[in-house]
Amino acid sequence: MKHLLHNPAYKMACDQFDATAEFLNIPETMRERVKAPKRMVTVSLPVRLDSGEVKVFEGHRVQHHLTLGPTKGGLRYHQSVELGEVAALAMWMSWKCALADLPYGGAKGGVTIDPRQHSIGELERVTRRYTSEMIPFIGPQTDVMAPDMGTNEQTMAWMMDTYSHQIGHAVPSIVTGKPVSIGGSLGRKEATGRGVAFLANRAVDMLKLPNDSRVIVQGFGNVGSYAAAGMAKFGARVIGVSDVSGGIFNAKGLDLQALQDHVALNRSIKGFPEGDYISNEELLIQPCEVLIPAAMDRVITAENASKIQCRILAEGANGPTTIEADAILKQRPEIFVIPDILCNSGGVIVSYFEWVQDLQSFFWAETEIFDKLYRILGHTLDKVLKQARKHNIDHRTAALSIGIQKVVDGKTIRGLFP
Ligand code: NAD
Repeated sequence: MKHLLHNPAYKMACDQFDATAEFLNIPETMRERVKAPKRMVTVSLPVRLDSGEVKVFEGHRVQHHLTLGPTKGGLRYHQSVELGEVAALAMWMSWKCALADLPYGGAKGGVTIDPRQHSIGELERVTRRYTSEMIPFIGPQTDVMAPDMGTNEQTMAWMMDTYSHQIGHAVPSIVTGKPVSIGGSLGRKEATGRGVAFLANRAVDMLKLPNDSRVIVQGFGNVGSYAAAGMAKFGARVIGVSDVSGGIFNAKGLDLQALQDHVALNRSIKGFPEGDYISNEELLIQPCEVLIPAAMDRVITAENASKIQCRILAEGANGPTTIEADAILKQRPEIFVIPDILCNSGGVIVSYFEWVQDLQSFFWAETEIFDKLYRILGHTLDKVLKQARKHNIDHRTAALSIGIQKVVDGKTIRGLFP
């Protein structure tokens, strides 16, 4: 898939794969088979805007591999979405699911749209048209979507409704991350952020850092806001957060409930009075114990990797650290990296629980969900640390190597058709 390599996220995902394949000694003939996306679908979505004008949006879905079960992955609405980025995110989902032992291949979807510039009605029409164009390629045993940047429970409800109309009966298992009232799982909305906080707090304990450690979070959407709240629950002090409008900093600790209320009212942290304005770039390099990037990919770069001043880098976002930054972090062993495919896997783990509950029409209590989630996350963290110690490698290579090896083993034992 050389034509996708112009996209920096796809190039980064391929470089990570190539380095890990080298470490694992994967046979050359197997490498391309494991790396290349299985299916890529691009559709154009003509949608009537509120003004009466018709605008054509571009939508994608990439299914990375089908070896271990249906594909699974989020749907992103962002103005910078393009096929290469979606393919990179699908590949990362594959290693993430395999690392957590979930019976899925990775997938990702995206529509090139700035959701903040559109009304609810327009977003509903985009979502329904996208779902209807994707019907031949998705299904509860084929490919299951979930929210990602710019999409949410409401988006999933529209997708489920559109798909169910086509099939003729309600099919809740077609998406995860939908509202609880239509077959969603308790805890799914909070799962990614709470998982990030759980793992970061485990690292705080392992490094014997103070309970009231200082936390900085970039991105205050679904992942960032629940990660911040989760860290505060563990006793940490959240001193800085940001969103696309910039950051807010208060060394004494931010009142997260007041901030949530402000964001609910203004759809942005801009103007929050109880702290000082700080840019996203400055925020990332402030001294703290835990730094949680939970917005875009490629924000820890060659320029700022030597300047970040945290003890724990907990990657809530997908792909926040570039290859060049990673090389710098390897020279800074004082920083404990919790790599993205482990750190934010709480979301897809509870999505898996949701899918299982929907398929069985049998729903679990919230305590059961979080007990199971934390058990899987704790076990997966231990697995990664053991692999890193055994081979004297960094945490990212350790996590990727476990995930990639599992997919290679699956392909090897299934053989090649025909
Ligand atoms: P979201 O849309 O709910 O929130 C995104 C946040 O990032 C918003 O606060 C937005 O203002 C901010 N942001 C956007 N562009 C920014 C920029 N250039 N600089 C600083 N902040 C910016 O999205 P989300 O679901 O919280 O996803 C965030 C990240 O977590 C993404 O990388 C996503 O792929 C990853 N992720 C999400 C889930 C999930 O369950 N939602 C699961 C795993 C990983």
